Amino acid sequence: MTGKRLLTIIQMNDTHAYFDLHQEMFWQGDRAVYRAAGGYARISTIVKQIRAESKGHILFCDGGDTIHGTFPAIDTQGQALIPILNSLGLDAMTAHWEFAYGPKVFNQRVAELNYPMLANNVYDKVTNKLVYQSYIIKEISGIRIGLVGIASNIIDKTMPPSYSEGIYFTLGKDELPPIINMLRVQEKVDLIVLISHLGFPQEMKLLSEVQGIDVCLSSHTHNRLYKPVLNGKAIVIQSGCHGSFLGRLDVEVEGGQIVDYRHRLIEVEAGTQPDPAVDELIRQALAPYKNELSEVVGETATALNRGTTLESTMDNFLLQTLLESTGAQLAFSNGWRYGAPIVPGQITLNDLYNIIPMNPPVSMVELTGEEIMAMLEENLERTFSCDPYQQMGGYVKRCLGLNVYFKIENPQGHRIQKIFIGNEEIQPNRYYTAAFVTPQGVHQKYGRNRENRSERIIDAMQKYLAAHHPIHAEFRDTFVAV
Ligand SMILES: [Zn+2]
Repeated sequence: MTGKRLLTIIQMNDTHAYFDLHQEMFWQGDRAVYRAAGGYARISTIVKQIRAESKGHILFCDGGDTIHGTFPAIDTQGQALIPILNSLGLDAMTAHWEFAYGPKVFNQRVAELNYPMLANNVYDKVTNKLVYQSYIIKEISGIRIGLVGIASNIIDKTMPPSYSEGIYFTLGKDELPPIINMLRVQEKVDLIVLISHLGFPQEMKLLSEVQGIDVCLSSHTHNRLYKPVLNGKAIVIQSGCHGSFLGRLDVEVEGGQIVDYRHRLIEVEAGTQPDPAVDELIRQALAPYKNELSEVVGETATALNRGTTLESTMDNFLLQTLLESTGAQLAFSNGWRYGAPIVPGQITLNDLYNIIPMNPPVSMVELTGEEIMAMLEENLERTFSCDPYQQMGGYVKRCLGLNVYFKIENPQGHRIQKIFIGNEEIQPNRYYTAAFVTPQGVHQKYGRNRENRSERIIDAMQKYLAAHHPIHAEFRDTFVAV
């Protein structure tokens, strides 16, 4: 390559199968405010505009968490997304929740996509061979680009075993230097772009340990990076979640390196004209579900928002449901990051599936005080570990019925100062009844008399909504950072 060349990189990440316009949360002054954003048809319009401006010199990448997160996605094991994704002109993806359908089903979806799935860190358990291509080489605008993928590495560590049947995941770090070297020396690429689903803190550590990456397209932790972050010479961007944002990075390349760049985090605003062809594909995908999912099932007085670390109003609604449905003393669920907010007013069945698209059974277990403390210390370490590679959770575990006073900055196993159940301090040897959803709520290793009840969580939430008009789900100071 000779002379200066321009390339526009577009990032989409963590869309979580939000097909169409939905509510999104924004911080404004002392509160959260909400407005509609997103949808693949609006994304398509914006990408087409950029493509035209850039004379087609664009690299468009998907960071994963794409084909899971809403009811039509789950009901079709991600298939409903495929025609839509294939219409967007993507160059490559990596993955995380895609594995929720099991690796075999995900591989069918990969075969249906018109762009590759990249991961240098997913191995077959029997052959120890890579399941996906680690990288591809693209030539755009006369620039040779080595595009490398790293999938989420927590799938076989903190998620249900079916997600990693027959495969295992590494961090992907040790695999990088030989790939980077080969791309630079043998393939003579000008630019190395990493599509990673490790998460922003994890990628920052990785970039400080591995040299030679020019651009890191970060995903998983739902960061809205309004400005790129520099790590050595690597430019890092991440672009929110739910398809409410796209990242745009314009780079000027000369002599095998970036000599200048501009970045914008683009909000996919409701006012954007949807691309009619993609909009039609979305209508077709949603048609079988439209009537059922638009049913109004209740009303909320509280804005149900999941985008807060220590506790969330959306999960308090879920946990209130668990307590009322079971009569348990305590309720637990995982601190999932995905789930677009629900504004005060009517709640539809679609909203309930957005909260918990898997619709798992309501489960019960008896836990000792000691187990509860161990479970929460483990969770706080996975959320706030000072080693980013040990951060394997989402937000803090969602709990109701207890109050935890803790020190975020303390070492592993020593964060919790006090736990109260009601007014009484937790008793290590006493058993407490707990309701939960999914093994991520209360791991298999904890408790006795574990059982799945016949009721599923969506039915339980509908009953709760019928009994409380409107519902309130304010913060309870469940976790207080002291
Ligand atoms: Zn993720």
